[in-house]
Amino acid sequence: MISVDDALAQLFALVTPLVIEEIALKDATGRVLAKPVAALRDQPPFPASAMDGYAICSADYVAGQTLTIMGEAAAGSRYDGTVRAGQAVRIFTGAPVPRGADWVAIQENVDASGDQITIRETTETKSFVRAAGTDFKVGQTLDAPQILTPNLIALLASMNIAHVPVTRRPDIALISTGTELVMPGETPSDDQIIASNTFGLNAMLEQLGAIVRILPIAHDTLPALRTAFEMAKGADLIITIGGASVGDHDLVGGVAADLGMDQSFYKVAMRPGKPLMAGKLGDAMMIGLPGNPVSAMVCGTVFVMPVVRTMLGLGKHATPHQTASLKEDIPSNGPRAHYMRAAITDGKIAPFERQDSALLSVLAQANALLLRPPNDPARRAGDKVSFIPL
Ligand code: AMP
Ligand code: MG
Repeated sequence: MISVDDALAQLFALVTPLVIEEIALKDATGRVLAKPVAALRDQPPFPASAMDGYAICSADYVAGQTLTIMGEAAAGSRYDGTVRAGQAVRIFTGAPVPRGADWVAIQENVDASGDQITIRETTETKSFVRAAGTDFKVGQTLDAPQILTPNLIALLASMNIAHVPVTRRPDIALISTGTELVMPGETPSDDQIIASNTFGLNAMLEQLGAIVRILPIAHDTLPALRTAFEMAKGADLIITIGGASVGDHDLVGGVAADLGMDQSFYKVAMRPGKPLMAGKLGDAMMIGLPGNPVSAMVCGTVFVMPVVRTMLGLGKHATPHQTASLKEDIPSNGPRAHYMRAAITDGKIAPFERQDSALLSVLAQANALLLRPPNDPARRAGDKVSFIPL
């Protein structure tokens, strides 16, 4: 049995980073930018008006001053002349500010009549001229790697980047094992249950940007498992769920070994999730998760998410921890790290009473995994503890 940190280090060592591909910006939501990208132009590319009003020389921005309107500048069509003392150009938001002008008197503060305007008020102290390149300059870069959020995509579009280099999405095959399992929506027999963590893990992986293949459930027989591994071919990561303990019906380790799996480790000193295994199966990485629903989801959070992030080029980092004060006293922990389902309310954390690894209803209520290190002594209310936000 190895520690959580050792298991994570061994998992990171198994990862083959994925290649980079160029995709259309429109399709890049949530993808990982793989290389820095440089702006192809200044934004704005010219001094631009931030308001509707009149472009003037700032020296003329004096209450009572009357100016002559020389022409108009709208977004997309500039006024080509030069604004001089005593002159104004009607201007609209986004239009280039004409040469000579360095001020926009907003229309709310101006009286207009025929081709004349009079500055009524000078309460505004801003020029309302956005200098060229004030947002960003040509050559300015967006750093990589990072996940492309909607705001970053807007910025890239503004930089005139139509295609972006991103890490290829990992192909992940999910194999659920168990003669007792049926898919949601099917009619289970009296002895069957619904495959649940399969869908929880699928959701977790899709959120990270993986292409997940939920394979048909493999019953606990050697041929069924072999067929499942056959169907998983081509995947970057094969994840099995269940069948990894030491019972008579736990066949995953044996079948994977027969198929040539080079095992890195089996069993991690943690609760829930002890019977975790990992290795390499041909070009694919394999992770065998325990079947108990909460164990599978906790191992997904603690191990699989960092592995997929590493595949995507986001670096080898454990799922981030935060700290909070305990709401109540808790007893000492045993020799395995314990990821307790917990609730944080008003900034204080408390584990749920029931910690059975089969209870998805408790996991669903939890907003944190309270982390108890191996042999952690009893803790008092108010003590600081680590947790993983959910
Ligand atoms: P196993 O690791 O196969 O011994 O499974 C441990 C427990 O988790 C058993 O009660 C299984 O029925 C249950 N289990 C295994 N796989 C799943 C799954 N995909 N969804 C829900 N429960 C499962
Ligand atoms: Mg099973």
